[in-house]
Amino acid sequence: MLSTPNITRYKPGLNHLAQRIILVTGAGDGIGKAVAIGAAKSGATVILAGRTVAKLEQVYNLIIEAGGPEPSIYPVDLTGATAKDYDDLSVLIDEQFGRLDGLLHNAAILGLRSPLTNYSSELWSKVIQVNLTAQFQMTQSLMTVLEKSEDASVIFTTSGVGRVGKAFWGAYAVSKFAVEGMVQTWASEVEGLGSVRINAINPGATRTNMRAQAFPAENPNDLKTPEDILPAYLYLLGQDSIGVNGQSIEAQLR
Ligand code: NAP
Repeated sequence: MLSTPNITRYKPGLNHLAQRIILVTGAGDGIGKAVAIGAAKSGATVILAGRTVAKLEQVYNLIIEAGGPEPSIYPVDLTGATAKDYDDLSVLIDEQFGRLDGLLHNAAILGLRSPLTNYSSELWSKVIQVNLTAQFQMTQSLMTVLEKSEDASVIFTTSGVGRVGKAFWGAYAVSKFAVEGMVQTWASEVEGLGSVRINAINPGATRTNMRAQAFPAENPNDLKTPEDILPAYLYLLGQDSIGVNGQSIEAQLR
């Protein structure tokens, strides 16, 4: 687990993501929206992936208005998309850009905060599908275009409840434990082989809809905003993190 003041206070150089092609899932809201806009401000061409097209279009407009590189929109619902859909996406990215330099798996769902003893199997499957299986399948399909990059960074999103088990976090917690394991496994498989690095980020408590859903009584103004936690994302997406592989990084100081 990497948690250094250097990463949370990382200040990228101007346009440090110029010429980079970066796909962000859940780019329409919350942390994904902030990372998509932040990456575009740093010069990246961002593929905005998510399930609510109106939100993705809003992010698209914000990037264009700010003078950023024109993004692409990839509508996808991670509950229903299949490996074939991700294979098709890989072909599209190859045709349009010839490579993929960054892949941020950010989209996730909370499910229900309830005891596992009472947890519905249907909801369990949905949470594991969105938070784990879809991310595995998408990464597997996109490996072809990631390997065409000189240095590609794949980032999964973890959580504190994916490291230490806590009551009532249900399938969400289990999916995040699995994400940590997948990162370690996959990172050790690609280590030293080529140009792809695979890491995780734990955003920490951040002012978003998901956080409000999990902690309805909390004052959101006490929390960091998605923009506050951008440095860790910009660090991992850019070339300053070449050689960092298999780490689980804190986006906030504890
Ligand atoms: P959020 O505000 O709820 O945003 C989640 C995003 O994921 C939304 O854009 C949502 O799309 C998208 N999404 C959800 N289900 C999807 C599906 N089936 N297909 C495609 N897109 C889907 O959550 P957030 O707080 O920004 O969370 C971002 C990541 O950080 C998650 O992985 C979360 O587990 C992690 N995290 C957050 C916190 C925190 O305090 N916020 C702490 C630890 C970890 P719609 O907008 O269309 O619903």
